[in-house]
Amino acid sequence: MDRYTQQRSCFQNRRFFKVVCGAGNEDPDEVYRLSQVYTLAGALGIDVSANVEVVQASRRGIQRAFELAPSLNIQLETEPFITVSVGLKGDPHVRKARILEDNCTACGDCFEHCEQQAVGSDPYRVIDRRCIGCGKCETVCEYNAVEYYTRKVDFDRVLPACLEAGAENFELHAIIADDEKVLRDWRILNRILPDNFISMCLDRSHLSNNHLLSRIAAARELTGERLIIQADGAPMSGGSDNFNTTLQAIAIADIIQKSGLDVTILLSGGTNGQTGELARLCGIPAHGVSIGTFARNLVRVEIEAADFDNDLTVLSAAVQKGRRLVDATLDPLQEV
Ligand code: SF4
Ligand code: SF4
Repeated sequence: MDRYTQQRSCFQNRRFFKVVCGAGNEDPDEVYRLSQVYTLAGALGIDVSANVEVVQASRRGIQRAFELAPSLNIQLETEPFITVSVGLKGDPHVRKARILEDNCTACGDCFEHCEQQAVGSDPYRVIDRRCIGCGKCETVCEYNAVEYYTRKVDFDRVLPACLEAGAENFELHAIIADDEKVLRDWRILNRILPDNFISMCLDRSHLSNNHLLSRIAAARELTGERLIIQADGAPMSGGSDNFNTTLQAIAIADIIQKSGLDVTILLSGGTNGQTGELARLCGIPAHGVSIGTFARNLVRVEIEAADFDNDLTVLSAAVQKGRRLVDATLDPLQEV
């Protein structure tokens, strides 16, 4: 079976779990470790930034997982599919924060609240390669000292190199109102990758339900059965493990599925350990689930441990946590 057919079959069987390293996360060490842990935990998708070094790190993590699997009594079959994420200016997934020195009082609140450890403290500043644009620093800053910027990726230069390095899918973060801008970038992605899955990540912050569906229909016209819709409930909000946090991810998927549009749907945006169960309770037959914040934080202690690379018990502890999350997410989908 070729890789495309293999991936299609994972969607049809609702066995697709994607760990999201972060569209803005350009820290190769973290991506290497997350890829290693979640490959061993049973993930079949890994979502990374549009950066060749990061794609290579993810590939290395997958390979290392396959090497170590026998010593951990884990049987792995399918190598995860790497998705490279890009986005349009205005989409929160591809922005980065910057601290304005003139306004900053060095209170330290952003340092305390950044779950990505993307704020340095001497002086307070954002560590660019680790920032995923989640906005928590801005929320806690009382001095208007945080602003955002977006770096435009040169698709034609970077994306073919990412494919060369081992990526197989693309994702366009399209949480903006302007259809024409979205479709312009969408056409470019389809030109560069004409024969594999491409995902559009959408939420409803700028779109009515009808607008959401008409945009999906336009994307479907160009991409056909290769289209994945990453149905984003509330972007980057999956910190807590309860039904309410994941409610919007279920709601947006419900709207798409009730429309009858024939697309592959991955739940995301506020996804956590309860997402699969809420999908089951609500009768939402999603094809898979993408989890970012919650999945990363779950294994944060282990992947930041100094002896991660040398001590298999550290890796094993992370894998067990990851495995519980993957099972808790996918098992209920089988019962929808
Ligand atoms: S929260 Fe605001 S004022 Fe405080 S350290 Fe961060 S940027 Fe500076
Ligand atoms: S809180 Fe979020 S936006 Fe702010 S520095 Fe950390 S990762 Fe970046």
